[in-house]
Amino acid sequence: MTQARVALITGAASGIGAEIAQTLFRDGCDIVIADLHEPDFLADLKADGQRSLFVTTDLSQPAQCQSLVERISQEWGGVEILVNNAGFQHVSPLEDFPEAVWEKMLQVMLTAPFLLTKYVLPGMKQRQWGRIINMGSIHSQVASLNKAGYIAAKHGLVGLTKTTALEGGPFQITANVICPAYVRTPLVEQQIAAQAETLGISVAEVESEVFLKASATGRMIEPAEVASMVSYLCSDKAKSITGACWTIDGGWTAQ
Ligand code: NAD
Repeated sequence: MTQARVALITGAASGIGAEIAQTLFRDGCDIVIADLHEPDFLADLKADGQRSLFVTTDLSQPAQCQSLVERISQEWGGVEILVNNAGFQHVSPLEDFPEAVWEKMLQVMLTAPFLLTKYVLPGMKQRQWGRIINMGSIHSQVASLNKAGYIAAKHGLVGLTKTTALEGGPFQITANVICPAYVRTPLVEQQIAAQAETLGISVAEVESEVFLKASATGRMIEPAEVASMVSYLCSDKAKSITGACWTIDGGWTAQ
């Protein structure tokens, strides 16, 4: 990072987002965390002049997306880095997929990124600099059984990212989507535990036989690996990298 920037990271109370927030803070950014829950690491961050802020936000509520950006604009002058990271999973066959869950998944993982992008773009255009990073998934590129809402939202994010890249490009605003396979976070650990119960096998067996079956490297990805990619994409070294999907999948899609 060549300059202190204001970074808004959604869903950063846990997992990948928490690692991204701490990494960008170490890079010298002022960080704003928008999540349903308060993160437990803010007090431990050693401030070196820069600031951190938590704003309780339910991203499924458009009005809260708007007031979040307005508050950052008023208090800190605007958002220079936007990381749309918040998400959740629901596993169910299509014919049983609850319509309310489908709606919520699209609201949190596609509409909120669209709204936040829409609200931060004018300031980024004015400053002639911006970074937008959307947290996609391997499920932005391929499907798996029983995850219709998640997969539809994550595929949609790729289209949003490409459009943002085209419209932001002339203003030196880049937009990219990161597509990880399974990362060791609470979101995945809950799924592994549930599968172990359903299949009647151990957690270790679920990891190796189900979750890592398609992985060439055969190991879970750590949140820090994803956060490093975010840090790089936010740097000035990555100023020509835009509209792209950054796959971190241990070789999953190489076959
Ligand atoms: P996580 O469950 O650890 O963290 C997700 C965060 O999003 C939580 O803090 C949660 O409170 C927040 N969130 C959920 N709904 C929200 C809402 N309505 N408003 C505000 N915040 C909300 O999950 P994670 O594994 O760190 O996932 C982070 C992102 O990475 C998600 O978009 C996920 O789809 C994506 N991803 C995860 C993996 C993985 O294997 N863990 C793989 C690929 C992509």
